[in-house]
Amino acid sequence: MLVIPNKVIKEINKVSRVANYLWQREWVERNGGNISMNLTSFFSDTNIPDTSNFVKHQLPIEAAGLYIFVTGAGCYIRSLIDDIEVASCIIYINKEASGYFIIWGGNTEGFRPTSELASHLEIHLFNKKNNPKNLVVLHAHPIELIVLSHHPIFNDEEKLNHSIWKMCPEVSVYVPRGINCTPYSITQSDDLANSTTHAFTYRDVALWEKHGATTTAENFEKAWDFLDVANKGAKLLLASWAAGFEPKGLSKEQLQELKEHFKN
Ligand SMILES: [Zn+2]
Repeated sequence: MLVIPNKVIKEINKVSRVANYLWQREWVERNGGNISMNLTSFFSDTNIPDTSNFVKHQLPIEAAGLYIFVTGAGCYIRSLIDDIEVASCIIYINKEASGYFIIWGGNTEGFRPTSELASHLEIHLFNKKNNPKNLVVLHAHPIELIVLSHHPIFNDEEKLNHSIWKMCPEVSVYVPRGINCTPYSITQSDDLANSTTHAFTYRDVALWEKHGATTTAENFEKAWDFLDVANKGAKLLLASWAAGFEPKGLSKEQLQELKEHFKN
């Protein structure tokens, strides 16, 4: 039998905490939002789990052997707060990538991983190759970022980034690579998945036009921080506009000084 390592249980508990933040902020209405984590490095046990839980589903061959925590199709993120085994699962993708075993969770009739599984996997495979420290993918609907994606500034990515970085020091320090303005594509499309993966070659957050935001990071807290801090920049900018003035913003020199002071 496959045993779920304690380290994995600890990670899963962190999901509930972040789910609570997302729900309290009204960023995950109904079944909006989805979360996944590549847990492969946490598993040393390679025993094949109970074969009765096998689900046939052709996946990219590069995904063979991965262990992925992922939220369920149609499940509510708010359910992760105190009913996580019902609203999410851990899958193990078989060696042929012809399907997966549900090795934990999914404790509800007809449970299936999110329909965004393929796009999450695309990002995990990108990370495996290019940024192996990044294990978490988080998609939600941060209010002020979405509002900004409706504004003409969305058509000028440099300007949008400069406008939020200049609002307060934290934004430039903690979202240093900024936001990608990802053009509208219908949810679950290959186009959207591809542009999102491309976004992470040079940005911390992919802001999906008229929809929401997606990020990837080392862990759940850091993924939350990217969205939270980026959204703070958007919120401050919108508040200034709503008050009827164009914010002065940190100067180029002040932003440069922050960059030098906080560089790793
Ligand atoms: Zn969404």
